[in-house]
Amino acid sequence: MSDLYERYVVNHPYTGVDLHTKGWEQEAALRMLLNNLHENVAERPEDLVVYGGIGKAARNWQAFENIVQSLKRLESNETLLIQSGKPVAIFRTHSQAPRVLIANSNLVPSRATWDHFHELDRKGLMMYGQMTAGSWIYIGSQGIVQGTYETFAECARQHFSGTLKGTLTVTSGLGGMGGAQPLAVSLNEGVSLCIEADPQRIQKRIETHYLDRMIEDIDEAIREVNEAKLAGIPLSIGVPGNAADLLPELLRKGVVPDIVTDQTSAHDPLNGYIPSGFTVEEAERLRSVSPDEYCKRSTESMAIHVKTMLEMQDKGSIAFDYGNNIRQVAYDQGVMNAFSIKGFVPEYIRPQFCEGKGPFRWVALSGDEEDIRKIDERMLKEFKDNKHLCHWIKMAQNKIAFQGLPARICWLGYGERARFGTIINEMVASGELAAPIVIGRDHLDAGSVASPNRETENMLDGSDAIADWPILNALVNAVGGASWISFHHGGGVGMGYSLHAGMVIVADGTKSAEERLSRVLTTDPGMGVVRHADAGYPTAIKFARDNGIDMPSLD
Ligand code: NAD
Repeated sequence: MSDLYERYVVNHPYTGVDLHTKGWEQEAALRMLLNNLHENVAERPEDLVVYGGIGKAARNWQAFENIVQSLKRLESNETLLIQSGKPVAIFRTHSQAPRVLIANSNLVPSRATWDHFHELDRKGLMMYGQMTAGSWIYIGSQGIVQGTYETFAECARQHFSGTLKGTLTVTSGLGGMGGAQPLAVSLNEGVSLCIEADPQRIQKRIETHYLDRMIEDIDEAIREVNEAKLAGIPLSIGVPGNAADLLPELLRKGVVPDIVTDQTSAHDPLNGYIPSGFTVEEAERLRSVSPDEYCKRSTESMAIHVKTMLEMQDKGSIAFDYGNNIRQVAYDQGVMNAFSIKGFVPEYIRPQFCEGKGPFRWVALSGDEEDIRKIDERMLKEFKDNKHLCHWIKMAQNKIAFQGLPARICWLGYGERARFGTIINEMVASGELAAPIVIGRDHLDAGSVASPNRETENMLDGSDAIADWPILNALVNAVGGASWISFHHGGGVGMGYSLHAGMVIVADGTKSAEERLSRVLTTDPGMGVVRHADAGYPTAIKFARDNGIDMPSLD
């Protein structure tokens, strides 16, 4: 294990108000890189793996150290370039330009396959950045929990008269993102049974307060969830096992859940999905000895997994794909009706995207939880008429434990983000907060992704695969002056299936930050509204018109 791991991850050295770099933007990038690998945040920090199968923060430990040293010497009129997790150049730019530009895992379309990626990865030429792993704005399961909550809440509104009380959700995968599912179901008052191949992951979710209990025996787990369902009491149970085995077993035992979904890392057949019949350790051995055999077995297991979800759907379960591309894998294995399971974005989330809403977040660089609490209070005051938002903040305060640097996730949209970003900057300027705040979002956002099996599935005008949008998003945010910008390939759904952009900006209390915040936090969600208005969504068109967004081709 690298001594850098000991120095930077285990001892996690950088919080407080003293700089270790030449400016707060560089400091923010450094602290967020380290935070991505914080042992309470990352899934396998010793391997630089943050989440999402093999989503990494840096290509290797040498590249990691070079990034750290580059950020330490980076001037406030320079820009550092990162190519798939390795720092490759520092150029003189100007003070309002991004301090860091990141491109991860991008391949030309004809070579955009896992096989080609793995070949380059083995040669040390690339890394997989997933979404926020390689773009240094991952904040642990808390980063997805509101999106997961909103998804289940909308599912409840559409199918269960507004609450999951008295319902059972069965899902699989309790990793970095999937681990948010049990808490999100509980927050919607429901009961969940979560199948997870790696008992250590179950343990981690219990320790971070996302899951109530682990029960090894499936019959006992069924008994417990049924009792809680009948009593209408929220409960989440993790069961160790393989989804391709336990899901069919549930059906054999007559369990037809109210909701069935899945968040194993199916997007990556080699590193993300454990084949049926293998423990985590056995899977690791097979993966290194015979990757082809591994993929054959994992994809066969995924076909069984999806067939069982389809069977449950036929018997009355509400089944939905949760953004891991498992339907595509099953389809390629001959499950021709795999896509009759609907995707979560067109089913539940797209109306929010039409208003530029998505997983917006902020992080206290001081490491002081008080900073987040003060921002919460200000938010409750500023948005007091928005009941849904206030409900979320109060619930988050009570139910979501901090992981790594204190952070808050909050789905804000066009107008709201710019307004609140400048308020945060004022709070830093006045000395109310201990240190600057870093503001960012997931790549899974309104106008930053092209992903035909996920964020852009089934667009009204058929524009699902058009990837001009995330490129425009990255470019406009860069010229607007974001602190760092990233452009990735393959996040969420794997190689060949997505292109997406990330954005992070620092509120350091300066006048310059105020200008940049109001520009970038307008263009970024603005791209979400524009993307959906251009595709013909009536709510996005109306929203664009009502808010004066200038779209020359709209009329
Ligand atoms: P992760 O790699 O951290 O976790 C995946 C988990 O699945 C691991 O704990 C693993 O042990 C478990 N697993 C693998 N195969 C299994 C099997 N056969 N049976 C039971 N458990 C198994 O990944 P993550 O960050 O949690 O993401 C999970 C998936 O969700 C990814 O494909 C990711 O791209 C996708 N995702 C979706 C959203 C969304 O909002 N819908 C957001 C982020 C990520």
